[in-house]
Amino acid sequence: MPPHTDLQQALLNWFDQNQRELPWRHGYSPYQVWISEIMLQQTQMDRVALFFSRWMETFPDINTLSRASETHVLKLWEGLGYYSRARNILKTAKLLVAEHQGKIPDDHRQLLALPGIGPYTAGAIASIAFNQNVPVVDANIERIFARIFNSDLIPGSTEARRLNWEKAEEILPKNHAREFNQALMELGALICKPKKPLCTSCPLVSHCLAFKYDLVPERPVPKKSKAIIPIDMATGILLHHGMLFIQQRLPDDVWGSLWEFPGGRIERNETPEQTVVREFFEETEFNVMIKEKLTTTIHHYTRYKVTLHCFLLRLQQNSASNPTLHAAQDFNWVSFEDLQKYAFPAGHRKLISYLENIRHPLTHH
Ligand code: SF4
Repeated sequence: MPPHTDLQQALLNWFDQNQRELPWRHGYSPYQVWISEIMLQQTQMDRVALFFSRWMETFPDINTLSRASETHVLKLWEGLGYYSRARNILKTAKLLVAEHQGKIPDDHRQLLALPGIGPYTAGAIASIAFNQNVPVVDANIERIFARIFNSDLIPGSTEARRLNWEKAEEILPKNHAREFNQALMELGALICKPKKPLCTSCPLVSHCLAFKYDLVPERPVPKKSKAIIPIDMATGILLHHGMLFIQQRLPDDVWGSLWEFPGGRIERNETPEQTVVREFFEETEFNVMIKEKLTTTIHHYTRYKVTLHCFLLRLQQNSASNPTLHAAQDFNWVSFEDLQKYAFPAGHRKLISYLENIRHPLTHH
């Protein structure tokens, strides 16, 4: 019997019985697999399932997507975070239409050449959409391998990566890559979870060296946790003749091309009120004054905790009534209802929801 046959069979049987019902698992269209894989890169499955259906209703195929505006695409992506993924999807869709007759290539090398598609995603598309014998390694799979092969390598190290890709190739059953790769990821999500894995329900328990040696809590070897950096910021909604000022960020940073209320980081010895007035002037040359404090939102990112102080502002009498933009590519005066048409970073979106929920007078202008 070839090595790993038992393990492969046990995992495939388990997947057959236990896989979750997911929209892209009906028919495995390459377009759907591609979009789901990009969404899943940094986002939890439950959340993705929701966004995925909405996306497919709006952009049912690559041709429709390729004709969409960036604003529309970003708006639909709002809430998923890591917005470069959405911008790359749009670039890729245009490229597929221009160079690949609107189809996703089934060639691993051609997939790797597309914007936003790295080794993991190329492997996932080649195997899941086209059932090619290509391995994949994601965070779930790294964790499972560290446990079943009882690896004490530091997660993310060059050696650990090399070992994982070798193992993924070695244990892949030929002609079953679609099910097998998904089965590994599903096992990581449902059974071999980061904390408290459900070893007694695991189809691989008899193959798992960490379980055998009672080392599961030590595998993968714990990483040193990085300190969370607190950041304090201030922002403001400028109200003028019943309209609100928003600006569109420059294209090149993490929230590139998203819309926002101007603002920025609170500097040493500054109050949030002073920050928002200063930032407004630096970014737009508006002279603003504080009308009221609205709220403080807190948003957690992987490495940062951002506390955002939010104010309602109006123009000073001596202020210009048109902005000169220094930190944005575009601006607009909009009604409160119209804010829904634009994509905002999470902290600003929280501010908008807060105002809606408390029925702030601003929401009725
Ligand atoms: S036995 Fe436990 S640690 Fe090993 S693969 Fe299964 S769930 Fe993970």
